[in-house]
Amino acid sequence: MAKRNKHYGAHFAQQPSSAKENPSKESPAKSAPASSTQSDAQKQVGFTPQSLPHQHAPMRRKRSKAPIVIILLVLLAGLGAGGFVFWQHRPVSITVDGQQRTVMRRSTYGQLFANESVSVTPGNLVSVTGNVLEEGKGNAYTATVNGAPLSFDEVNNAPIWGGEKIEFGNGDDVLEPHTSEVVDLPPKLEYRVAPGTGEKGYMVQQGTVQYVTQWGKTGKQEVLHGQTTGETGQGKVVEEAQNVVVVAQDIHPDDDKKLVAITFDDGPSYYTFDYLRILSENDAKASFCAIGEQLADGGPVVAQTHEAGHQILSHSWSHQQLTTLDEQQLAHELGDTAAELEKWAGSPVRFIRPPYGDIDEQVWLKSHGAMSASVFWTHDSLDWEKPGVDAIVDNCTKFMKPGSVILMHDGGGDRSQDLEALPRIIKAWKDAGYTFVTVEELMASDSSIDLSVVKAGPMPADAAWPTEVAPASNN
Ligand SMILES: [Zn+2]
Repeated sequence: MAKRNKHYGAHFAQQPSSAKENPSKESPAKSAPASSTQSDAQKQVGFTPQSLPHQHAPMRRKRSKAPIVIILLVLLAGLGAGGFVFWQHRPVSITVDGQQRTVMRRSTYGQLFANESVSVTPGNLVSVTGNVLEEGKGNAYTATVNGAPLSFDEVNNAPIWGGEKIEFGNGDDVLEPHTSEVVDLPPKLEYRVAPGTGEKGYMVQQGTVQYVTQWGKTGKQEVLHGQTTGETGQGKVVEEAQNVVVVAQDIHPDDDKKLVAITFDDGPSYYTFDYLRILSENDAKASFCAIGEQLADGGPVVAQTHEAGHQILSHSWSHQQLTTLDEQQLAHELGDTAAELEKWAGSPVRFIRPPYGDIDEQVWLKSHGAMSASVFWTHDSLDWEKPGVDAIVDNCTKFMKPGSVILMHDGGGDRSQDLEALPRIIKAWKDAGYTFVTVEELMASDSSIDLSVVKAGPMPADAAWPTEVAPASNN
């Protein structure tokens, strides 16, 4: 033992640097060299009576009360936490399909559905185009919570708080696995016939006028690619497209103001000068519907007509029945005529008089915005039949109603009967208190006609044109 002690003592003495690094070894070697084989604990006990009495006494006092306090605190905390948990998950009352039920608060609608024997039909697993792939493999249910209809995904894992009124409904379908992309959604052509149109015995059932009230804008839509079926289907609309809207209606001047429009088709011709003279002599405004291919000779007449305050309309390039044409032909018949007329009239011409009065939604769709208003008539002179001056006058005056549009011709053949009839027609209407205005002025006199888009000029370059006609609407 003595040898080992010495050995230890020598060891420490020989390696002071090591001892310094480790105070726990240094301490017993210095303070108790004779009993260095004792454990550290034994050494501490040996010192206790002299060196630590004052330190131990207060520690004992603390230890004697602290455990009780801590235990009480822990118990209280435990009770509090337990109470809180219990409070959070206490039984609460709800109404399920009209029946009172008690459920644990914070349980889910999914758990509730599983515990109730609710008779609803689950949805199906469907392809991206809506074909049923597996019956009943869709969502189990939908729910209406306090009047708000919610999907399975919205409600299944949602907690119940108590007090809710829940009604379970049939499950919704679940789409096959799919990828999606967002693509452009083209606008549609919306064709609206205003209420009351064609009810007054007018020959044209589609309205005396048709006009654009809104140009189109492209929207955005999701396209879904089914990974099971390989089908491509439509997803949700990300951004609504703005449809092109064409309205058809008759003209009813506000306050039944006695206004009438007279229109001359198939010009310009050398007769047109006579019409301009008669109109001027009778202080009447009119509207001339010009044929594009006659502008090479008749252009200056159109310019003179425009300068006299009359309105210029397009009557197509070569008097084609527009409903028989494709888009390319319409681009020529409408677009080229408008461009040529603008040269002579000095401003864009977007009003047309369709040859034979024949126009439909497909013509509008194929027009690509080359026109913004189409004008029919309420009085057909039938002057092309050359029925005699009296008959022409009678056809044009047989009834008089504010908003009437008279159809005559200043081209297309011998117009001598018209030249005799025209002053009499004007006089008859004027005697009845009417004023002759242009078609556009007549439309503007009816505040139910929104001319803002027509007046703003041709279709804006950034507007989008529809690719199809929207389903019929009664608006
Ligand atoms: Zn014609």
